[in-house]
Amino acid sequence: MPNLERILKNVLLESADKGWGPNNKFKYPLYGGTGGLYTPFEKYIKDNLHLNKSAVAVDQHAKTVTFSDGEVVEYDLLLTTMPLDLLVNRLKDVPEPVKLATRGLHHSSGLIVGVGVARPTPSEKCWLYFPEENAPFYRVTYLSNYSPYITPDPNHFLLLTETSRSEHKPEDKATIIDRVVEGLINTKLLEPTDLDRISSTYLIDVDYSYPVPTVDRNGALATIQPYLREHGIYSRGRFGAWCYEIGNMDHSVMQGVELVNEWLLGEAEVTWKDFAGSAPLVLDSSFVGRASSGLVRAGEKPLNVPQVKRNLAAAAVDQAGNVA
Ligand SMILES: Cc1cc2nc3c(=O)[nH]c(=O)nc-3n(C[C@H](O)[C@H](O)[C@H](O)COP(=O)(O)OP(=O)(O)OC[C@H]3O[C@@H](n4cnc5c(N)ncnc54)[C@H](O)[C@@H]3O)c2cc1C
Repeated sequence: MPNLERILKNVLLESADKGWGPNNKFKYPLYGGTGGLYTPFEKYIKDNLHLNKSAVAVDQHAKTVTFSDGEVVEYDLLLTTMPLDLLVNRLKDVPEPVKLATRGLHHSSGLIVGVGVARPTPSEKCWLYFPEENAPFYRVTYLSNYSPYITPDPNHFLLLTETSRSEHKPEDKATIIDRVVEGLINTKLLEPTDLDRISSTYLIDVDYSYPVPTVDRNGALATIQPYLREHGIYSRGRFGAWCYEIGNMDHSVMQGVELVNEWLLGEAEVTWKDFAGSAPLVLDSSFVGRASSGLVRAGEKPLNVPQVKRNLAAAAVDQAGNVA
């Protein structure tokens, strides 16, 4: 938990607290960007690596996976990292409670915009968060500060921006690049004169961006994961395990390493969280729908986010009529 006293002291003294947080120091590949972490593994697995093939069906009874090119592959044990809800949808004859439990899994999506600028980096920062409404993004990373080989030469820098989107927070993909650039100027990360120095922009629409830890999640996982395990299927990784708190790259990689160690060496998994002990999520007739705050059961009133915002705004006006 952040220490309030420490935060206030740093704000008042305008000092950068570089020692805070679990990731105040981290390693990054000199070459190849984030993918540069994984390319060294390639030579060990290249004979069994098949890219750009989509698993379209999993028969957990016959223990086969069918791919989009028609190939059918048999397995004894299956380690999968595809999003858990998509996996359940691809299974054969799934019991209804397991299928329904996927409704307890919520996720957000993201519009990721990279902006390359033809001037030396103006900052030594790594990444910053933006709760304000003058920019669409919630986070910006000075990716070119991680390695000098991210940009063509030292006279360029690269900003990686992340804008969340979901069914509750739609974002217009057609205008996002323009709005991000405007936001970078509003937040003073770019100067208006930088508009003529933008040398590249790049947009990726990431459908599964964050697994949202809702109150129904543990019950959903307690229903789905034991069923998969009974059939020799192990769903791990950011959206395979669907656990925000163990969803970073390091966690995801270790989930794979530890599962294989369990299979081969009998060593128990450490990183992955087993919610088998949690009460299963049983969606019976009391389940009536879904709201931004989670599942809604009969008799429950869903959280009305716009109304809460209006209430908060009204509360900010004090008795003398002054706006806080
Ligand atoms: C913009 C952004 C910034 C991030 N920044 C950081 C960071 O700074 N630090 C950090 O630790 N983490 C970061 N993350 C999170 C990090 O990317 C994930 O933790 C990591 O990639 C999870 O690895 P994974 O193998 O579990 O899942 P993924 O990397 O998502 O791999 C799952 C794979 O399954 C494939 N797949 C899905 N369905 C099918 C199918 N039906 N058939 C075949 N293949 C399928 C997908 O194409 C994908 O390649 C970031 C994520 C995003 C989107």
